[in-house]
Amino acid sequence: MTQLQALVQCKCPRCRKGNMYKHSLFSFKYDEMHEFCPKCRLRFEIEPGFFWAAMYVSYAFNVAELVTTGIIAAQFLGENEIWWLIGIVLSPILVLMPFNFRYARVVLLHFLSPIRYDKSYEKSK
Ligand SMILES: [Zn+2]
Repeated sequence: MTQLQALVQCKCPRCRKGNMYKHSLFSFKYDEMHEFCPKCRLRFEIEPGFFWAAMYVSYAFNVAELVTTGIIAAQFLGENEIWWLIGIVLSPILVLMPFNFRYARVVLLHFLSPIRYDKSYEKSK
């Protein structure tokens, strides 16, 4: 499994086999995470409060979504429709909240933590 596949499927950054989350992105329990990787027993929260740093990643996601939506919406709205623009621009924050929450932690663990892929876990079940 490539790193991109592991990232998209929210797999453990060390073994790329174990799921980080207990439920689907589209579940109401989208935020429930395994404490340890079900395959290699890596503790995902490598130190207390580690996932607070995911807020910065989530912030970057939100800014990118706001700017993109704002640029697209501004093309279709007039100058007097500022409240429509604000409503449209803020809607991705709510709609994409589960996505942002999960992938902020995934990106944090895959790219911004000292955990690296370990091939020795490749053959383990
Ligand atoms: Zn693992």
